[in-house]
Order: sequence, then structure tokens, then C-alpha cells
Amino acid sequence: MFVESVSFENYRNLKNAEFFPSKGINVIYGDNAQGKTNIIECMWLFTGGRSFRGAKDRELIAFDQKYSKVNAAFFSTNRQQNVEILIQNNKRKAVLNNVQKDYMSQIIGNFCAVIFSPQHLDLIKNGPEERRNFIDSALCQIKPQYASVLSRYKKILIQRNALLKSIQKNSELSDTLDIWNEKLAEAGSHIAVYRHSYISNIRPLCESFYEGISQHRECLNIAYKSSYASQDTILRDDIKNSLLTALQIKQNDDIDLGYTTRGVHRDDISVTINGKDAKSFGSQGQQRSAVLALKLAEASLLGRSKGESPVILLDDVMSELDPARQRYLLDKLQGMQVFITCCDPNITAQNKFLVKNGEIFPTG
Ligand code: ATP
Ligand code: MG
Repeated sequence: MFVESVSFENYRNLKNAEFFPSKGINVIYGDNAQGKTNIIECMWLFTGGRSFRGAKDRELIAFDQKYSKVNAAFFSTNRQQNVEILIQNNKRKAVLNNVQKDYMSQIIGNFCAVIFSPQHLDLIKNGPEERRNFIDSALCQIKPQYASVLSRYKKILIQRNALLKSIQKNSELSDTLDIWNEKLAEAGSHIAVYRHSYISNIRPLCESFYEGISQHRECLNIAYKSSYASQDTILRDDIKNSLLTALQIKQNDDIDLGYTTRGVHRDDISVTINGKDAKSFGSQGQQRSAVLALKLAEASLLGRSKGESPVILLDDVMSELDPARQRYLLDKLQGMQVFITCCDPNITAQNKFLVKNGEIFPTG
């Protein structure tokens, strides 16, 4: 899969810009605050995901403008395709291959990418939410139906939490909690099965990349860590029963707190290096190598399941890695279309683009 052209209209500081990348490595360079990350952020939107910087849709529109329109022509599944996104009234709408889509989730799985930025380098160090986001966002591209299960789970969770707060004021309402426990356990069990399977597929890839990065000196292991069942519970019915039991056991605590303390929204991925928890005992370098291995494994698995490599978006990440890790990364990404943003243009690349004040200039 590769991008042939991207055009921006009123996208942040990229008022009216267009560029034509090449199939291999594309370096996007320039001074600070010129629009490099804006380009990468926009390209990620073509996957159907939200801004990887956590921005609201309205923040993506150039100041003083009412809408933004961005377009990408890309080659995938042996044909040229096109995706256009209109951002207006704090919403995004997409047209994929001239067909208007009602929801952004309907374009997930067509244009596939893996994003890697300095904030991802803290994936191990940070809390479980980032690790759940990692797995959820990776799964959505491989199995687009996962996005709808996830959204159903989130809606049920919001309703259960609202009910817990209402029960604090009116205890008679607690009779209705059973229905929500059942719904949450049902949706949650589907999510857990997808996540377990993703982890078991990504594990060998991740281990092998980490072995390579650490030059066979260290060994990485990842596992799905649930908040209600043992690691070996992987069958959906068993997971559902464990979830239901956990929700029932914690019901009174949940009513007191006003939120749900057990469920897949509390799960995590455990990462160990040589058998020791990487979050608590890993050095900064080990933690970063583990993230690098996770990201490379994500790209590799996505490529394998789609039958073609995803587009790789590396925002400002090269300067954060030492030369050995930079070489390892570029070596493993050979054959894929890669976008690298940096301030220093001295990276060997097929194509280079200078970004200056929201304009993009090809420079070689
Ligand atoms: P750095 O090297 O520091 O990471 P960058 O080139 O990646 O810089 P961007 O994050 O892409 O910079 O941001 C470039 C500029 O976009 C900033 O100066 C910011 O003020 C501007 N900007 C952000 N949002 C908007 C918006 N909605 N409208 C107009 N300009 C915006
Ligand atoms: Mg930037």
C-alpha cells in the first residue's frame, strides 16, 4: 500500500498544500512549528482514526475557517483508491472511492497505517490506557468489525456507570443492574477474545524484533492481563462468566464509587524483559526498545493480515532513538512506504520535502 498524493485545504496551518510522495522513504523536514506533524496527523486521519495527538475535530480546521477538506490518493489491493475527509461542525465525514460514508468507522481497514511518535515511546512507562489504545487501534485496522464492538461496550459502560450513580440516590434501581451486567459481560467477552488473539499473534513477532534490537542479549515477553480472570481464560463463554462474576462481586463497591471497577476497560498488557516487569524495572532504553519491537510487530502483523504493507508514519521519532536503533528500524521497514518528520534533512531518502510556514516544497 502506498500514498500517491495528499492535498490539504484549511488543515491547521496547511492552508492550501499538496504533495506527491514516493514509494520508499519520504523525509519531511523543516524548522519547528512549520507543519510537519500536522501532515502526519492528517495522514493518520485517512485510516478512519481520530487525531493521534488527541485533538478535537474542530481544532484541526485552520483558524478563522469553517471547514477543512483533505484528500489522499493511494494504491491498495491492486487499484487506485481515494479518500476524502471533510471536517466541519466538530465532525468528520468521509468519502471513500466516491461513496459517501455515514460514519468514519466505515472507512477503517481500507487505508492502513502505523503511527509512531515520541508519545508512543512512553507506552510501557505510562498507564494501562495507552496500552489498551495501542491494541484497540491496531485491532480496528485488522478487524474493522472490532470498532463497532468496542463502541457498543463503551456505550453500555456509560449507561451502567450512570445507573450506579442513580442507585446511590434511589436504591430500588439496583434491580435493573443485572441487565447491564449481562450486556457488559457479553460485549466485553467479545473484546477480550479479539485482544487475546491479537496478543498471541503479535507475541512471537514482538519477541523476535526485541531479540534483534538487543542483539540477542535480552528476551521480551508480552501477555494480556485481565482485571477479572486468569491469563489462561481465553474461551468466550469462560471469559463472559468470569466477567459477570467479577461485576456481581464488585457491585456494591461500584455503587459506592459510581463507576465500574472490573471489565475490559481496566485490562492491560504486561510486558516483561528477562522475566521482570518492564514498567517497574526496565531502563528507559529497554522500555523504548520494547515499544519499538511492539510497533514493528504491529506493522508486520497488519501487513500479514492485509496481504500488503501498511504505510508507516514516524513523527519526530528518529531523533529520540540512538543510531543503532535508527538503523534497525529503517532496515526492518524496507519495502514499505515510510514518512519521517525531522528537523535535520540529513537522512538518506528517496524523496525529501521541506515544510515552511504550512507550505510543502519537494527538495530532492
Ligand atoms: P516541531 O518540529 O516543533 O514538531 P512541526 O513542524 O511538527 O514542529 P506542527 O505541530 O505541525 O509543527 O504545527 C505547526 C503549526 O501549526 C504551529 O505553529 C501551530 O500554531 C499551527 N496550528 C495548529 N493548529 C492550527 C490551526 N487550527 N490553525 C492554524 N494553525 C494551527
Ligand atoms: Mg512536530
